[in-house]
Amino acid sequence: MFIDSHCHLDFPCFTVQRDLLLQQLQEKKITNIIIPATQKSSWSAIQKLCLNHAQLYYGLGIHPHFLDNFHQDDFQVLELLLKSSEKQCVAVGEIGLDKYADADLQLQETVFIRQLQLAEKFDLPIILHVVKKQSRVLQILKTQKFTQGGVYHAFSGSYEVAMEFIKLGFKFGIGAVVTYPNSTKTKQTISRLPIESLLLETDAPDMPLYQQQQKYNSPLNLLTIFESLALLRNESKSCLATQLIKNTKTIFSLNND
Ligand SMILES: [Zn+2]
Repeated sequence: MFIDSHCHLDFPCFTVQRDLLLQQLQEKKITNIIIPATQKSSWSAIQKLCLNHAQLYYGLGIHPHFLDNFHQDDFQVLELLLKSSEKQCVAVGEIGLDKYADADLQLQETVFIRQLQLAEKFDLPIILHVVKKQSRVLQILKTQKFTQGGVYHAFSGSYEVAMEFIKLGFKFGIGAVVTYPNSTKTKQTISRLPIESLLLETDAPDMPLYQQQQKYNSPLNLLTIFESLALLRNESKSCLATQLIKNTKTIFSLNND
């Protein structure tokens, strides 16, 4: 049994094949998927999709790459939705800072901080997106006294930085990076991290696997990511698989057993 802790199943590229894909996922024992939102315009569609499929969960939030249509009122809408949302809403996300996003950093920080405050208010973990802004994000999490923790998705970086995030209650979403022969530093970090700090994710349709860069990534690739992760770790595959599920359920309150 596996859980994809980060997949954009609501993206249009999945629309046509979605029902078939959900069936294939079940056959491969990928029992649950967590769908992080990227912007306000996606929130209601994600909620509807999850209401129709009990095995799907979601986060609501504004991603730093999707600030073009951002409006101050979005926070009020987000707050209302978080307040009234059903049990399938398990996170605020994905949120964070990205050096390569178009929006200026000041706006990114304002949006990030407001969403941290909402996560704190509603006792929800966050799904964190960070690109080349690790120390600033650590600083913000500390000054905001953020206590809910969450998942640092698509982590890459050093063991020392990873341990700083662990101290603040974060675990790491491990995705396609473990399939790339050249990502030596990150793979070394992942091999050393405490087993309790790892979750599986695909980030589909983004983050394609090694040698599949021309294709859309699919949540079905979760099993390949698991196999590559197992090669980096000393634990047996069954022990690793069990622990990955346990870790996911420690962060996100998923109802099923
Ligand atoms: Zn994502």
